[in-house]
Amino acid sequence: MSNATAEFGYTRWGAEVVRLAEPLSARSPEPRAPRARSIARNGGVDLVVDGRSVRGVVQRGGQASVAQLEFAPMTTAAASILRIALGAANEPGDETYRRVVESGAWSQAALDVADCSCRGRGDRCVHILAVLYATAAAIDREPALALRLRDFDISLDATGDAASDPPPDHRHPRWTTLTAFDVRNYWDAGPRD
Ligand SMILES: [Zn+2]
Repeated sequence: MSNATAEFGYTRWGAEVVRLAEPLSARSPEPRAPRARSIARNGGVDLVVDGRSVRGVVQRGGQASVAQLEFAPMTTAAASILRIALGAANEPGDETYRRVVESGAWSQAALDVADCSCRGRGDRCVHILAVLYATAAAIDREPALALRLRDFDISLDATGDAASDPPPDHRHPRWTTLTAFDVRNYWDAGPRD
């Protein structure tokens, strides 16, 4: 199902990360989800991405909590099928996602680590959920981020060589700050295509 009106996860790649906050297997709605969405929507999460790690500083009521996520690397089988589905594309679209899922070899995004400085509620505190929503929003904006978070380098071709060869230092910075992204303008702009 395409969910073009979803606030978070209106691309398939973003929706996959929303599912980490709202698993389809859950028996009841996540009670902290509305608050977490509100925090993410109102710019309450500062995200820093480093490889497979996402660190989110969540400001709430004058207190800052730091949630740390680490995405599991993509399986070799999933990476192979993704290379084929991408072809020469340099950004994964919803059609790419449909093709990898139909292949049967796809593995959904998963977390190796979900930790928070509040240490109050295991791996489901409101801060971790807010960081997941903020990450989904960042992926909606730039779907290739979903691949980088799983150790898949879209700049490499099927042989593992660089498809184009900018200096390694400029290919993608080690730390990518996403805080400059104005979430409100983004919602107003609506979905692309
Ligand atoms: Zn927390």
